Parts: sequence; structure tokens; C-alpha cells
Amino acid sequence: MAALLLDVKPGDEVIVPTYTFVSSALAFVRQGATIKFIDSREDHPGLNEEKIEKAITDKTKVIVVVHYGGTACDMDMIMKIASKYKIFVVEDAAQAIDSFYRSKPLGSIAHLGCFSFHETKNIQCGEGGMLVLNDQRFIDRAEIIWEKGTNRSKFFRGEVDKYSWVDTGSSFLPSDMLAAFLLAQLEQLDLIQKKRKQLWEQYYESLKLLEDKRYIKLPFIPYYATNNSHMFYIVCRNITERSNLINHLKSVGILSVFHYVCLHNSTFIKSRAVEQLYLPNAEAYSDTLLRLPMFYELTLENIKTISEEISNYFSFI
Ligand SMILES: *Cc1c(COP(=O)(O)O)cnc(C)c1O
Repeated sequence: MAALLLDVKPGDEVIVPTYTFVSSALAFVRQGATIKFIDSREDHPGLNEEKIEKAITDKTKVIVVVHYGGTACDMDMIMKIASKYKIFVVEDAAQAIDSFYRSKPLGSIAHLGCFSFHETKNIQCGEGGMLVLNDQRFIDRAEIIWEKGTNRSKFFRGEVDKYSWVDTGSSFLPSDMLAAFLLAQLEQLDLIQKKRKQLWEQYYESLKLLEDKRYIKLPFIPYYATNNSHMFYIVCRNITERSNLINHLKSVGILSVFHYVCLHNSTFIKSRAVEQLYLPNAEAYSDTLLRLPMFYELTLENIKTISEEISNYFSFI
């Protein structure tokens, strides 16, 4: 919906971090845009704000920022660049519900903010999402795009006497069943978040010693960002060590998983790209980042056990 609302067309360029989920780029690729991938920060898998300005050309229409793990990008810096070049910014806040940048809720700072309620997120209904409009200009058209290109919402409010096909769009609405499930989750936001934060803190505390010994790195949260405990990841020293650790955890019944293959190294992009990019920080996170179990039903005891197994692994190498 964000790509449709911004009228992204063939010839337009969209800046997207490479270390993200497919959707951050796909919405714009489907509109025919060319994607300019940028690297991650060194201290964090999120996009390196310093790389944005160099990627801008006179064709750049949108910057997509991804708040990886619910940790804010430096939005003041990004919005300043965007206004200098008159470019739209879309926040991919899929992982960022209940997280903040200098006390502003993520997803509410740029022109558009996109949330996900996929089953893997803090608040979920299986499949679903939310588009936040931060600009009056988009409201009327968003409602039409949402309703299959019709002005049906206007009709239901009695503002027109019949409804018809007026614009592009698709079926972006959730079903009543999903909406009901989601509402119940939203009503429990505080409870869910309180629990997730306890789990996250327990991981951090239990694994700190391994970081002090330089076996692993723990997540870094910049001073302007909050932590919504969307995920808990550790960064291993290299890919072999990560594979061995995954196998060790698997052997004791713990499922840990790595994260994104950089989009610039995906089959889809590689088969179409004219040049092979090298984005070293993101490629390093592809090889070394490991996500530990993080879901509401976990107990603090579970976290201690998982952390002990990670310590066990390092005490034997
Ligand atoms: C989950 C996720 C998405 C996709 O969300 P869907 O609801 O599956 O469309 C997009 N971007 C990021 C960063 C995500 O984590």
C-alpha cells in the first residue's frame, strides 16, 4: 500500500537496507522501481544512516528504513536528508511495535509507517498488518486502495449514494476473525511486552560474561532508541562457530536460527543485477548473527537453561 500511495513507477529508485526481509523491497520492485541496497552499521544490523546520502540520485523517490529488532534508526538524521532532497521515507516498523526514537513511537515519524502482525511479531494475528499515515494527503486515497480500489467506505458513511471502482488497489483488509484475534492481542500489549522485556533482560544478564570474554557480542541499543524485546540475538565470531553452536543447541533440544540472507545476494536480485555489490557489515551479520528463542510462553528458567547451554558450548571449545 505504501508503494501504491507513493505512486512508485518504473524508473524510480528506492533505497533499502540489504539486511532485511524481502517485503521491504518487494513492494517497490512490484511497482517497477530499481532498488539501491545499502549496508548495515558496524555496531548494529540496522541500516547505516551514513550511507544514505551517497546512494541518492535525481531518480530517488523513497528511502525505506527498517527498525531491525525494534531498534530505531537515527530518524532525525534520515528525515533531514529526505527533506533536503524532497524524498519520501517509509518506516518498515514490522518489528517495532511499542518501540521509540527519542520518545516518538516508531512507525509514526516518517511519511508512512508499516507494521506487521505476522505470527513471528510481538503482537500478532497470524497474518496481518497496519499502515500508519503521517500526512493528511494520503488519507482518502489509502482508504480506496485498501478497499479494492473502490470508494465503498465513503458509501458506508453515507458520503456518496453508490460506490464504484475509482482507483487502483487490492484486498488489503483483514477478515473479521483476524481483526478480533488482533484486538485481543492489542488489549494485552502491556502484559505481553512486560513479559518479553523480562525474558530479554534475563538473556542479557545470563550471557554478559560470554561477551566480556569476547566469545560473542550482545545486541547494541543506541542512546536514542528503546528496546521492545522483539528478538534476542547474539553475534558469533565467525560462521563456523555459529554453525557449531546451532548444532550444539539443537542436540539439547533448543532451536536457534540465523536471520537474513542479504537481499543483494538473493537469487532474485542476483539474477537481475548488473553488478555484484559488496556490503561488508550486512554480509558479516548474515554469517554471524544468531537468534535465540523468544516468545511469550518462555519462562525465565528456560532462558537460564538456554544461556547455560551456550556457556557450555564455549567452555568446551
Ligand atoms: C515480518 C517483516 C515483514 C513482513 O511482514 P508481513 O506481515 O509478513 O508482510 C517486513 N519487514 C520486516 C523487517 C519484517 O520483520
